[in-house]
This record gives sequence, structure tokens and C-alpha cells, in this order.
Amino acid sequence: TSRFAGVPQGPEDAILGVTVAFNADPNPNKINLGVGAYRDDVGLPFVLSPVREAERRIVHAQHHMEYLPVAGSRTFVDKAIRLAYGEHNHHVKTGQVASMQTLSGTGACRMAGVLIQRFLPALDDGPRDESPLVLLPNPSWANHAAIFRDSGCTVGQYKYYDPATKSLDFEGCVSSLEDAPDGSVVLLHACAHNPTGVDPTPEQWAKLSAVLKEKRHQPFFDMAYQGFTSGDMEVDAASVRRFVDDGHRIVLAQSFSKNFGLYGQRVGCLSVLTDSQEEALAVDSQLKIIARPMYSNPPIAGVRIVEEVLSDPELERQWRMEMKGMAERIISMRTMLKGYLEELGSVQNWDHITNQNGMFCFSGISKEQVAKLRDEHSVYLTENGRISMAGVTSQNVGYLANAVHKVTM
Ligand code: PMP
Repeated sequence: TSRFAGVPQGPEDAILGVTVAFNADPNPNKINLGVGAYRDDVGLPFVLSPVREAERRIVHAQHHMEYLPVAGSRTFVDKAIRLAYGEHNHHVKTGQVASMQTLSGTGACRMAGVLIQRFLPALDDGPRDESPLVLLPNPSWANHAAIFRDSGCTVGQYKYYDPATKSLDFEGCVSSLEDAPDGSVVLLHACAHNPTGVDPTPEQWAKLSAVLKEKRHQPFFDMAYQGFTSGDMEVDAASVRRFVDDGHRIVLAQSFSKNFGLYGQRVGCLSVLTDSQEEALAVDSQLKIIARPMYSNPPIAGVRIVEEVLSDPELERQWRMEMKGMAERIISMRTMLKGYLEELGSVQNWDHITNQNGMFCFSGISKEQVAKLRDEHSVYLTENGRISMAGVTSQNVGYLANAVHKVTM
């Protein structure tokens, strides 16, 4: 008999479960608003044309398929760092940034979690007697809590979203960060917050930067959607760059899943801004020691694509343009969805659909209404009422508005 006979059946991942149910539904009008992956205006997965061109060139070049170093491709990592910190960042130039290629954004968060668990000292630089406290916004991407818990950190929350206004509870946010133990790790979504679509304004970011500094909290930025708030990679990096300019020594997770459309290729980067090149090299050495027994070295195919695109000014220009196109299509779906709901005579206020940013709309639709959408209209979304705007198209937005109107009447 199997020694694993006693393993209990675990629950299905809430987000991936939505797609399982969607796939089983025979209704031709069904809509999947669960998955956080971009779809084009006919609802299909989208490969950016510079990515296709890069792929073609790579196949043509007949590259080897040897191992990458443990820390991944240096060329890729340097380009990733520039996209985040800016072309001319002084700390980058002086070698103060420890960095490595990671298994996309998830892997970057996980590596950071282990680094924090192993090495983040107590505030007086002495030994820690407890596992480090990582504070997540309430709510956050569901996987964050699991990632930091599995990394051996203690997970807490700070106030973020106010269901009454469907926007940021800024006062609550600031006061819960002020009330937290000094020196906590604070996870911030750099832009396009998942699941709420609610981002702080530049003034609010400035205040958060001051509060974190006052409290000596460690900022950890998760930047999974750079470009998806404004359509502009530089504009969307403003929060990260502001903290760096304010003197914070940030930790940063970057994903290329969304803005390059490389989901299954697992392209990401972790960086840690330190005080000196010497310190960066020490952190680099430990990141490699963490990665080696976990997965040894990262995959090569996806980073070659990013390198190819970002090494050719014409491909880079196309990429920035098509990236903007994805963001703009989502923004136009927000306007259309809100417009249709108003036309249908909905008495609810739907301003948050257009006020929120990035891939998601935190609709305020209740758990019961989500069930009705699924059972009566074949519209699938997660229980928390999060709509992936990427699944909305000019074809299905009318049907969606009608369904939403019916369940919220
Ligand atoms: N962080 C956030 C906030 C996300 O929404 C996601 C993707 N759902 C990720 C990180 C990681 O995605 P990936 O591992 O594909 O980069």
C-alpha cells in the first residue's frame, strides 16, 4: 500500500477553479472573467508581434540550450532593472542593486520571502527571536499569503480597500501601518493593484513613503502589472522610483507575464537595493544559495525573447506601443461596461469601474450575485466579485452589462 494513502484531498485554487467550471459550461455566450491574463478583443490569448518576431529570430539563430547561471541571464536582469529603476538610476550605475532572474513574479516573491526569513535582522541589527512580519494589503493577491507563509514569514495585514466607497481607505491604511510593529516588511503593489484595481495617488505614495520611513518598515514592491495602469512603463514605475529617490532600500519583484504576455515562459526578476556594491554582492551570493537547491537555474527561452525585444530599438518601440494598446483596450472596456449599465437604467453607482486601474475591477458584486451570474448567465468570476476586465470584449460587454444589471437590480 502507498505511504501516501492518508493524504487528504486539498481544495482547488479559487481562481483556477473558475476556469474549470467555465470550461464545463456548454452555453455559447459564456464569459470567463476569472483568469488574470490578457485577452484580445475577440477573447483570445494575445501574443505581441515583437514577441513573435523575437521568437522567429531566436529559432533562426539556432542557439544552444545550455544551463543559465543560477542567477539567470545577466543581460536580461540588467534590462529588467532599467525598466523598473529608470535608465539613469545612480544606485544601479554604482552596483548597489543585488538581482537575479526568477521564475516570474511568483518566484521573485518566493525568493524574497526566503531571503527575508533568513536574513532580515531585528531593527537593532541584532538576532531576531521571531519570524519576520510581512504585512499585506487587505485584500491582496491570494497567493501572497501562501508564498510568505511557506517562506517561513509571519503574515499580517494592513487596511487598504474600503468596500463602502470601492476605493482606497487611505486613513485606515496609514494608521494601520503606523500601528504595526516598527521594522515590519510592507508589501506594496507598485501599480494596478490585484484584486481591487485601486492604487494610491502620487500624493498618497509620498505620504506612504514618509510613514514607512518613520516606522523603519521594509518596503517590498510587487510589480506584476507595470504598464497596465497608464499604458506607459515609465509612468507606472513612479511609485517604485519615488521610494528609491526618498532613500528607501527597496526589495522589488518584477513579472513579465502581463506586459510581455509571456505567462507560461516564467520570466521575472528580483532585486534588492543595498547601500554598497559590496553589500549587493553578498546578497547576490545568498540568493544563489537559496535558488540552487530549489530549482538550480531558471529557464532560458523566455528571457531570450525579452533580451531580443529590448536589444532592438524598433522591436522595443513596437512592444511599448502594443503594451499601451492592451492597457487602452481594457480602459475602453471599462468605459463601455459602465456606459451600458447606465443605459440599462441601473440605479447603482458604477463610477468605480472607470476609477479603478489595471486588469481588474473590484465590482462590489456580492457572493450571492456572483453565483447568480454563473448559474443564470454563464458569467464566471471569483467569489470576491473581481472582474478580470481583460475578459471583456466589444462583443460580450453588452451581454455582460445586461447580466450584471439583472443580478444587481
Ligand atoms: N503578483 C501579483 C499581484 C499578481 O497578480 C501576479 C499574477 N497573478 C503575480 C504576482 C505573479 O504572476 P507571475 O508568477 O505569472 O509573474
